[in-house]
Amino acid sequence: MKEHTFQDILVVDLTTGGIDRMPVTERLARDFIGGQGIGSYLLTQFVKPGADPLGPDNALILSPGQLVGTAVPSASRSTFLAGSPTIGGYLGMSNGGGMMQLRNAGFDHLVVLGQSPRPVYLKITDDQVTILDAHHLWGKDTVETAQAIWMDFGDHFEVAAIGPAGENLVRHAAIVGNGYIAWGRTGLGAVMGSKNLKAIAVHGSRPVPTAHPTKLLKLAKTTTQDMVGQDEAIQVWRDGGTWKWAKTSPKPTRNLNSDLWDLDKYDQKFEHHPVACPGCPVGCKHALKIKPGHKYEGLELTVGCTYATMNGPFGLGLGLTHFEEMMKCGDWVQRLGMDSEVTAGVISLLIEMYEHGLISGQETGGLELQWGDEALTVKLMHIMARREGSLGDLMAEGTAHMAKTIGNGAERFLVNFKGMGKALTAHSGGDSRVGLTTQSLSWALNFRGHGDRHRYPFLGNRVDQKKNNIDSLFDLASHLGIPDGKLQEIGREPEMITPWAMRYVQDYNTVAYALGFCDRPVVLNVLPIDRMTDLYNAAMGTDRTSTELLQAGRRIWNLEKAWVTMQGQTRADDYPPDRFFEETMDFKPTWPPDAEEKTYSSLDRGIYEQILHRYYQSQGWDTVTGLPTPDTLREVGLEWLLAEYEEHMKSSTIST
Ligand code: SF4
Repeated sequence: MKEHTFQDILVVDLTTGGIDRMPVTERLARDFIGGQGIGSYLLTQFVKPGADPLGPDNALILSPGQLVGTAVPSASRSTFLAGSPTIGGYLGMSNGGGMMQLRNAGFDHLVVLGQSPRPVYLKITDDQVTILDAHHLWGKDTVETAQAIWMDFGDHFEVAAIGPAGENLVRHAAIVGNGYIAWGRTGLGAVMGSKNLKAIAVHGSRPVPTAHPTKLLKLAKTTTQDMVGQDEAIQVWRDGGTWKWAKTSPKPTRNLNSDLWDLDKYDQKFEHHPVACPGCPVGCKHALKIKPGHKYEGLELTVGCTYATMNGPFGLGLGLTHFEEMMKCGDWVQRLGMDSEVTAGVISLLIEMYEHGLISGQETGGLELQWGDEALTVKLMHIMARREGSLGDLMAEGTAHMAKTIGNGAERFLVNFKGMGKALTAHSGGDSRVGLTTQSLSWALNFRGHGDRHRYPFLGNRVDQKKNNIDSLFDLASHLGIPDGKLQEIGREPEMITPWAMRYVQDYNTVAYALGFCDRPVVLNVLPIDRMTDLYNAAMGTDRTSTELLQAGRRIWNLEKAWVTMQGQTRADDYPPDRFFEETMDFKPTWPPDAEEKTYSSLDRGIYEQILHRYYQSQGWDTVTGLPTPDTLREVGLEWLLAEYEEHMKSSTIST
């Protein structure tokens, strides 16, 4: 590496009040790129396997991508990482447009250690770091918290806060940025709550250092033009956010209602306009306001992902049929500070158990549970977030705990990925009965459960469309950086193209996340690996090759896998819910309008086992245990981890 433009890592210990900094060494930068890659390395250094996720030995790490804060469009993603109280292992959740200013304040990463004896929040501004008393903020929701901090310091601060759910250690509590950007899924908000850390406020006024600003600007402009050139796709997101985009593919639900996708009603009911992360020409986020004459008129809400915050979990998942009611639920889930999909999964399991007589009014405190009931959904969210009574505690501990506590076969209703619940059929793209795609496989195989991380949509074709998959893969080979020889080898086994593709998609996406790229330009196909490499080199003053970056991506992926293995994840965690193997799924798509009702078969265990086998093989992992072998860890440059890894293998009696 010729130049080194990395900034320091800020380390705050809430037990001692100590504030320190450490450098990003050249070796760290070379091996783990930056952003989530270095964040994952830091996690392995600061959190030992077996540490209580809700105890002082866990760390909370914030890692903006390495190109965040530069002129590069859509490089807006910042990742929070910690040991997970939900899935018992690694978690990293990145989101667009939040906490980017950490880099402007002079830091590339933030590591929060220990546990404060009293509620506090962090204020970070241009090298100045202060731990402040947060008694006046405790109990406030995420929006109120951000507003209170803005009142004190100005709204130029970015604020990542927890709501009541994080304070009460709800296991799927989220961290919410600026009142609407959620780092959800795996319990980051509970980790923050366990540290008595109510919020992190950051403002930086300095330009992010780059090695060759003129060259970077030129490349950034070309990338912007390429993105804007994808006008049709961008326009769909601008018009209706991910909500509208989601309409272009069929979505199954037992509680189907055409209102869910009727965009005329959407326009009738909402004033809406796109919101963009700094420097992004897409603007897929949305500011919504309910028009006069409709329920909750005047209600305003800004959402990062309209689909995942509102109509996915609350419409398709829980059966609400009116946009304004879904928006009300989306507003509360953000304010209370919980992950929307897991929250819907918890409520959905509760309703199913009630329907099947496994719980009664005695356990629900007299509540009659049913689908499509907005008032009930909101009430249950409040009970959960505040752990009210035994029902609140039951829900706050998550679906696996709920099923185990209730017993009597309740486990058969679970829809869990890596132990995290989800409302059934809320998203066909991740339901492997609809297709064993890179997307649906990623829900089972990535380390933090369901979510669209590490998939590549254009390879998300069904296994029964083998020819399309091959064509897609060949078209995208240079984009993803798949070596020619490997491509020919993969092409000889078309029925296994998806598991093979997963490996290369994961390497590529891991680089994209380390650099801080949002998923949308990845979807738009405007970021071939060579372009990402050029942007990185211009920003950092390096002369690295695409192959080197992809190798680093593979190293990061293996580091994360080794770490979750040491935290106890096994091959048994690499399966979709049992229900997918046992139940068929009927649905009538709402789009296109003439779509016919269809029944999808249950998953074939034999085929799934074959797919897992090929996937592990493509990764160089043991095909029996599904875990990285010492040889693979050595090959990717993680020999320093071997002693600890092999010690774990011995003590857990798993052999590779
Ligand atoms: S596409 Fe959306 S989430 Fe991604 S950077 Fe742009 S505005 Fe932000």
